[in-house]
Amino acid sequence: MEKRSKRITHADRVFRYLQSQDHPVSAYDILEGLRDDGVTASTTVYRALEKLLDAGKVHRIESLNAWTVRYGGRDGKTPVFAICDDCGTVTEHVDVGFADSIAGLSKRTGFAPNRSVLELHGRCGDCSTSVPSH
Ligand SMILES: [Zn+2]
Repeated sequence: MEKRSKRITHADRVFRYLQSQDHPVSAYDILEGLRDDGVTASTTVYRALEKLLDAGKVHRIESLNAWTVRYGGRDGKTPVFAICDDCGTVTEHVDVGFADSIAGLSKRTGFAPNRSVLELHGRCGDCSTSVPSH
């Protein structure tokens, strides 16, 4: 008995869940969100995330210990994550300048980076204007 329909993997489920979120989520959040879809073990989530990371489809925001879908930077550009410490908003930017700097460093030193992520912590435009600074 052959079934030719495309199998939906746990990695697909995790990726879809990340796509449906408007902010980075922890592996624990993913587990909770996918429990009804048959994802019941944290190791399943981590394995799926590793797979997606290898495929370049997700990012790990190290300083938040959270995961997000990768929007830009597929062609080796360095994504820059601006993380607001007040409201938790994370914005992904792709800055060609950083990619050039890293490429230059790689050329000078011979170091071949697999991936690079830059995380900026601070206050987003909304928060810095709504809070008087003194
Ligand atoms: Zn903010």
